Amino acid sequence: MATVSAELKGKYVLVVNAGSSSFKTQILSCENETPILAVLAERIGANNGKLIFKVNPDTDKEEKHAFDVHYPTHGEGIRDMMKRIVDMGILPNFDSIVATGHRVLLGGPKYAECKVDATVKQVIRDYIPLGPLHNPANLACIEVIEEILPGVPAVAVFDTGFHTTMPDYAYTYGISKELSEKYHLRRYGFHGISHKYVSKTAAKYLGKETFTGICCHLGNGCSISAIKDGKCVDTTMGLTPLEGLLMGTRCGDIDASLPLFLMEQEGYTPTQMSDLLNKQSGLKALAGSNDMRDVENLIEKGDKDAILANNIFNYRIIKYIGAYLAVLGQIDGILFTGGIGENASVTREPICKAFEPFGLELDTELNQIRSGEPREINKKGSKIKALVVPTNEELEIMQTTLKILGY
Ligand code: AMP
Repeated sequence: MATVSAELKGKYVLVVNAGSSSFKTQILSCENETPILAVLAERIGANNGKLIFKVNPDTDKEEKHAFDVHYPTHGEGIRDMMKRIVDMGILPNFDSIVATGHRVLLGGPKYAECKVDATVKQVIRDYIPLGPLHNPANLACIEVIEEILPGVPAVAVFDTGFHTTMPDYAYTYGISKELSEKYHLRRYGFHGISHKYVSKTAAKYLGKETFTGICCHLGNGCSISAIKDGKCVDTTMGLTPLEGLLMGTRCGDIDASLPLFLMEQEGYTPTQMSDLLNKQSGLKALAGSNDMRDVENLIEKGDKDAILANNIFNYRIIKYIGAYLAVLGQIDGILFTGGIGENASVTREPICKAFEPFGLELDTELNQIRSGEPREINKKGSKIKALVVPTNEELEIMQTTLKILGY
């Protein structure tokens, strides 16, 4: 943690991470970089919404408050949340908030992290066609908070930002140049805030200036990045978060002809096809649940579908790590993060064992240990290290926000 300047004593950053029908926010103290409040609003647009406040989250002083709510839009949800923060006495007013940091899904090829102004808002609008569920929600949150906190600067941290350093041969699709230019079609990559935070944390843990290696973010969404000297050189997600690994509900890599075939045969519209590939595929389609804990339980009972789903899940990860090993040559290590990467030792084990011939020696006992801290799971002297590094996107957004604003 950086030592805090006098002007940040007693001050907070509001971090907002809006999804298509939800938002997560945190108020983090600039002094100790921990949240005093974590909020989750779910089912925005539906009648049975939920708002959950955790005051002093993940401490022995944690207090949880759950409310039934109905938020027609993200904006109304944010307004209500801000009112409750004061009404509940969590903050007396908002004078101590020095900045807001927003996770924004898509910022195109140039924008990584920047202070929000009219140009940046236009960039967020320009990429709505490629991020139709997220970018409008992100913009709505920015604009409502600007109204509630006039004069408080906002920073946009793009989930695609970390991947803007990919070389052209990694991000270009082999299709018409004219169409690619007209519609901004290229590989952007996602989970960038997590890959950046985890690779920076690993560099610190390993006592290096920067990290060179492979970062596996395995959660409900999954992606792997190849990182050289702290910069992303390739990643598995593409134009949208659909490409690459098998995920909870997304299919990952498939032959592009497959959806065309199904649209012809079944008469699916583009929206129905997108729903099938994004929400009804992956572990959910193959094993009956998008939750890896359910898949693990089914495997214990000998369920053949779950075994196959898990084999596909692991195989794709191994294939991409192998590819990125070839891309990078020398690596410091392989990093695991996200709900599955941080918790599922049974997923990490076969993946790490596949790289034994390349010099990764897994310590099966260390692999079983649970902890919220970054840790090695390889044997001493292992040529390639394997690390579990818990992700913290909110902290990354907060640190980036303060850096961009010159604190
Ligand atoms: P995330 O999207 O990062 O929150 O990760 C969600 C995924 O992590 C789901 O598939 C969960 O089943 C999985 N997960 C969380 N805890 C565990 C655990 N203890 N063992 C296996 N998978 C887990």
